[in-house]
Amino acid sequence: MTEKETQAKAGKLSAVKGMNDILPPDSAHWEWLEDKVRVLMGRYAYRNIRTPIVEPTALFVRGTGETTDIVEKEMYSFEDKLNGEELTLRPENTPGVVRAAIEHNLTYDGGKRLYYMGPMFRHERPQRGRYRQFYQLGAEALGFAGPEVDAELMLLVHELFEAFGLRNVRVELNSLGVASERQAHRSALIAYFEQHRELLDADAQRRLHLNPLRILDTKNPAMQALVQAAPQLLDYLGEASLQHFDTVKTLLSACGVKWRVNPRLVRGLDYYSHTVFEFITDELGAQGTLCGGGRYDGLFAVLGGKPTPAVGWGMGLERVLELIRQQGQAPATLAPDAYAVLPDAAALPRAMQAVQALRSAGISVQMHAALTPGPDSMKTQFKKADASGAAYALIFGGDELADNAVTVKALRADGGAQRRESLDNIAVWASTLQSQT
Ligand code: ATP
Ligand code: MG
Repeated sequence: MTEKETQAKAGKLSAVKGMNDILPPDSAHWEWLEDKVRVLMGRYAYRNIRTPIVEPTALFVRGTGETTDIVEKEMYSFEDKLNGEELTLRPENTPGVVRAAIEHNLTYDGGKRLYYMGPMFRHERPQRGRYRQFYQLGAEALGFAGPEVDAELMLLVHELFEAFGLRNVRVELNSLGVASERQAHRSALIAYFEQHRELLDADAQRRLHLNPLRILDTKNPAMQALVQAAPQLLDYLGEASLQHFDTVKTLLSACGVKWRVNPRLVRGLDYYSHTVFEFITDELGAQGTLCGGGRYDGLFAVLGGKPTPAVGWGMGLERVLELIRQQGQAPATLAPDAYAVLPDAAALPRAMQAVQALRSAGISVQMHAALTPGPDSMKTQFKKADASGAAYALIFGGDELADNAVTVKALRADGGAQRRESLDNIAVWASTLQSQT
């Protein structure tokens, strides 16, 4: 078969629906963001944790909660063909982090502050800000019971958004108290919804006795009025829970974070207690929640570990990046400092040596690569040099090499000024090619 016939027979393949390729130049925005994340995590002394993307399905059924959207309808689950194990692509990473902490006894000598960045998988209807593979940045503080750590984690989000240059992101918070308080509220809630049974949609009817708190989380517009008037968990909190909540609010205010209590904020997951929070924007349409989190003191025990207080958050990076771009905060496209123009194959050995020396000196150099099938014309090479965005062209012509030199031509400024530099002392003049950054 000829190559053409092979191609025709093979047909084209495309990515799975709702799963996106991240290509240059967009990928540069991701790297820019990831760099900022690493710097800030270091300043807060949060350490990186990397857990597997595939986990036992039971981890999420127990850790995320049987009555959540995620477990009910969004998980990519499959059976391992070789040994029949039930496995799932992680839809979120908190259960994985807690599983790892239990498995490796991470908190044996005190609390641990951890963060992760990576892909999550949920079988949702793809739309703006909602994908089937998406990236989350998350931070988890394990083994800390105090409200100051809740506040610290929210400050971390606040500072990340500041480092990204984001504006108009609001902070909403609420307290879910402890189990006995939620129990009392739950009874009141069930009684209230039972009085208004005819107003409940099918989902709510089903959840009424399974997990009525989740009804408050409904996105059904027809149920908003009902939900607005429902009994508030805040009214069921005891002294200690109120104290915890007050301390979080006081610390946030002391550090300049504006917040607002949203008594309807309950989060979709079952293991939360005390503080829950969201960072929200109105500038991304319906998918405006950038980051959600809270305290989950109950999760370690649910996963078979020693009861351990913990708190954390997860941030959707696609949404954050979309807002960064929309607000004009994305960095300019990456351009190399210099572009190497090579009129002749004979110049290659010396030219490549020189280019390597420049790279060692910290200069980024893109080399023209079209000697095969034949060297491109100078005109073509200069066009490419210009399109690369480089500040300088390096011309390794025959004349120059006979002189053991290279011509350095300014492409952006100085009206195209050019000069000759010797290849003997590259280290001396390399820094003159360094662009803006
Ligand atoms: P939503 O109410 O938008 O469905 P969620 O409660 O399911 O969010 P979490 O499980 O708390 O979200 O995940 C934390 C963050 O991850 C969200 O605030 C959001 O920014 C992001 N996120 C969640 N699901 C998706 C998705 N399918 N695609 C892109 N980002 C997502
Ligand atoms: Mg969701």
